[in-house]
Amino acid sequence: MNLSKKAKDIAPSITLEITAKAKSLKESGVDVISFGAGEPDFNTPKNIIDAAYKAMLDGKTKYTQTSGILELREAICKKFKEDNDLEYKVDQILVSTGAKQSLANAFLAILNPEDEVIMATPYWVSYPELIKLADGKPVFLNTSKDNGYKLNREELEKALTSKTKAFIINSPNNPTGTIYTKEELYDLAKFAEENNLIIISDEIYEKLIYDNEKHISIASLSPYAYKNTIVINGFSKSSAMTGWRIGYAAANKEIIKLMTSIQSHTTSNTCSVTQYAALEALNGPKDELLKMVKAFEDRKNFMVKLLKGLKDIDIIEPKGAFYVMVDITKYFNDDIKDSLEFSKELLEKEKVAVIPGIGFGLEGYIRLSYAISKEQIEEGIERIKNFLNIIK
Ligand code: PMP
Ligand code: GLU
Repeated sequence: MNLSKKAKDIAPSITLEITAKAKSLKESGVDVISFGAGEPDFNTPKNIIDAAYKAMLDGKTKYTQTSGILELREAICKKFKEDNDLEYKVDQILVSTGAKQSLANAFLAILNPEDEVIMATPYWVSYPELIKLADGKPVFLNTSKDNGYKLNREELEKALTSKTKAFIINSPNNPTGTIYTKEELYDLAKFAEENNLIIISDEIYEKLIYDNEKHISIASLSPYAYKNTIVINGFSKSSAMTGWRIGYAAANKEIIKLMTSIQSHTTSNTCSVTQYAALEALNGPKDELLKMVKAFEDRKNFMVKLLKGLKDIDIIEPKGAFYVMVDITKYFNDDIKDSLEFSKELLEKEKVAVIPGIGFGLEGYIRLSYAISKEQIEEGIERIKNFLNIIK
């Protein structure tokens, strides 16, 4: 069949694929430990669920404005002011069906054919595919391991061409868990200004941050950055609401208007009931969510300690999100030559699911999520240890 060439060039999400595979193995009775999870294992707090139920009973079951109900956009503006020192008006906010849709809208709104968007490797799996869908060209930068694979001016300069339109920052980062410092962001904001670039700042893991680190939004660092950054955020990770599908973007009015116009033809508003739930997530009590962050921090410390105890294994020290990137190159041999083969064998032999680093464009690593219980983390790392003993 003569179907779309563009669609055929899009790879399915490897993170979703492996997570689904581990889930279905578990359901069929196989004792799998999955480090694949890209979502909190905590349920959405009850006050948020109650707000959704009340919204349904109150008849909030109709279309809303494409950009989202006014109360929610007001609450998002308040959040930006309080948490990020950013002043937005409601017409600078677009609520979407997940941060994923916010990103898709953003690329569709800013890219012309062949426009280039730079990102550091490893990158979150969906960025390159969404850029390609919008007829743009993803450009990958191999930055330094010593610096946690973060973008920096020197590397950006090398990648800059007349077609460069934007670069992506994702802090806290998926998959590395690293965080950009204020100085690093300031330097990147200056680079954007000198070269007239748009910044896409994916801040979805903002609230999952540990060791007294602080999240800074690059949009707050200069008037240019404010005007030229599209901030992407959402409720999936911060409020344990992955299945509800809600995220949002903030930017200048002109960009948000284009993004809203695109969304008005694809999905219209995100689910009305979900929007009332998100309103409660922003305005209601936060104690459940604070407990969740504490639990993640505790698990991170636990998992990092266990991983550091494994022979010939190196990790990127995480400071946020809920992932650890583990360097497995010392275990490559004639049978296991890359992260994909390593992950397949590990699942087959020890029933442990992990995401191969190549899914994020970085060979030699696997990504382990700690959005699972400490008992499962302990058992899973023990199995990995067995596996390493067998293949060495
Ligand atoms: N950005 C990053 C870095 C992510 O890890 C995710 C997780 N799926 C998203 C965006 C999209 O999140 P969602 O669509 O669930 O809001
Ligand atoms: N962002 C999560 C992950 O990286 C969820 C999966 C996805 O949306 O692709 O695992």
